[in-house]
Amino acid sequence: MDCIFCKIITGEIPSNIVYEDDQILAFHDIAPQAPVHVIVIPKQHIQSANEINEFNSPLIAKVFEAIPKIAKKCGLENGYRVITNIGEDGCQTVKHIHFHILGGKKMTEKMA
Ligand code: 5GP
Ligand code: ZN
Repeated sequence: MDCIFCKIITGEIPSNIVYEDDQILAFHDIAPQAPVHVIVIPKQHIQSANEINEFNSPLIAKVFEAIPKIAKKCGLENGYRVITNIGEDGCQTVKHIHFHILGGKKMTEKMA
């Protein structure tokens, strides 16, 4: 499959890994939009959050269990933002579900 994030999982595309377990990978975004900008993905290819269902939601729960550990490891003691973009209007560019962890500064109050 021609998926950048699946290639990052296999190591075909190198990345700067922050956290990894058997089901989840987190790595620094190649074009950071905040002092800390980490991408968290399940290793299973799911297109977007719009494809979350009763079968794969336990895996997504695992992602959200990992997020506080990753945030702590990145020193985000004062809060952070988690974003997932979905589809065309959500400006999703990589079609493998991912959660952006953004922090290390006060975020803007506007979200859109
Ligand atoms: P999206 O726009 O789909 O929500 O986010 C995709 C993110 O993946 C972008 O923030 C982009 O900078 C990041 N990205 C795209 N290609 C690569 C890559 O090859 N390596 C890393 N580390 N990040 C990437
Ligand atoms: Zn993928």
